[in-house]
Amino acid sequence: MTRVVAKFGGTSVGSVERIRHSAGLIAAAVADGETLAVVVSAMSGETDRLLGLAGEFGAALGDEETDVALAAGEQVSAALMALALREHGLQARSFLGWQAPVFTDGPPGAARIAGMDSVAFETAMDAGIVPVLAGYQGVAENGRLRTLGRGGTDLSAAALAAALGARCDIYTDVDGVFTTDPRIEPKAMRIDAISHDEMLELAAQGAKVLQPRSVEFAKARDVRMRVLSSFLDAGASKGTEIVAVGDIAERRIVSGVAYARDQARLALLGASGKSDMARQAFEALASAEVGVDMIVQAQARTPGSVNLEFSVAHRDLDRAQTALEAALPNAQLSSETGLAKVSVVGAGLRQRADVARSLFGVLGESGIVVKVLATSEIKISALIENDAVERAVRALHAAYGLDQG
Ligand code: ADP
Ligand code: ASP
Ligand code: MG
Repeated sequence: MTRVVAKFGGTSVGSVERIRHSAGLIAAAVADGETLAVVVSAMSGETDRLLGLAGEFGAALGDEETDVALAAGEQVSAALMALALREHGLQARSFLGWQAPVFTDGPPGAARIAGMDSVAFETAMDAGIVPVLAGYQGVAENGRLRTLGRGGTDLSAAALAAALGARCDIYTDVDGVFTTDPRIEPKAMRIDAISHDEMLELAAQGAKVLQPRSVEFAKARDVRMRVLSSFLDAGASKGTEIVAVGDIAERRIVSGVAYARDQARLALLGASGKSDMARQAFEALASAEVGVDMIVQAQARTPGSVNLEFSVAHRDLDRAQTALEAALPNAQLSSETGLAKVSVVGAGLRQRADVARSLFGVLGESGIVVKVLATSEIKISALIENDAVERAVRALHAAYGLDQG
């Protein structure tokens, strides 16, 4: 019997009706002879609401009590999903992260899954009971609850699928992975199959349809992963399969365009030569758990000084500034907010040096200024004004031949 972990995201459990519909998809899969374990997110908007409540008391993401509040969102939807499955005549029971248990390490608000015990799930499935795991949460070595970072239910699902040797079906509100966010570009095309590396890069650059770490996990543990729509009837979703690179029949130079809003740019001006500003800056940022992106180091116009620029997510800006001011009191620090990042991703970029030039050209023709450009093996990213994101995504999508029809 095929074992499947089916994960339902926030909009797929966003109301009583949506929970009923998603439960119907599970019932249909069971009727087809599959053995299911289910993983659910909080109802859409709920995690933000709970984060706001903790914030009223000055607690942010990263506080152990914030994690306890946030984990409640998935607790509610796990119970409601188990009840909805009962309506379909199935036996079901919910599991919270600590009950499985899902073991984590790493800080509150951004924990990693260190391992999980799937025995309780196997026992339930063998007895014809559908287990429903509350996603996004686990338990730390000190016994406290931990959440896995935003979008983390995808990771819960990938980890459970790995533990059970199951396929992992990620149900969401679009019919798979598209060449860009179909909400911004209606001409975006669904991709039948995409390689782990390209999916990982799209996700890392902001395509939130899958959480990056879940893709990494699926690749490392050889979990078969698909993205499907929970908004269609059973069997109607064509979806996207995430596959090994060798299994892609049709090679494209560019696979997709991703974007991430709310980025900030930090610039440090310091004396060149005697100090190792860059090393000190990145060490300070790493110990403050700030993810740094798009790094540029150049000799500044002022002789004898060096300029270091990089981007961070806006939500990390305060933490980054505090850490840098403490570590480099003599450097001049400035920042710019209201920025966004657009990225073109494709395995074919490896051989195409001209893509960077044409990205400048395409954005320039649309009157969009590129503030910082960064490339890696399979992506090119540009830092631009937040306001220009949608225009930039559409322009690049068209220019790289991704528009439908
Ligand atoms: P869930 O709540 O199911 O986890 P998310 O909101 O996290 O869903 O992810 C699904 C959303 O991702 C879609 O509604 C879509 O707007 C967005 N998205 C961004 N980029 C892409 C892409 N390339 N393909 C599909 N969806 C995308
Ligand atoms: N509820 C969490 C979030 O909103 C986890 C998830 O949905 O995957 O980020
Ligand atoms: Mg998600």
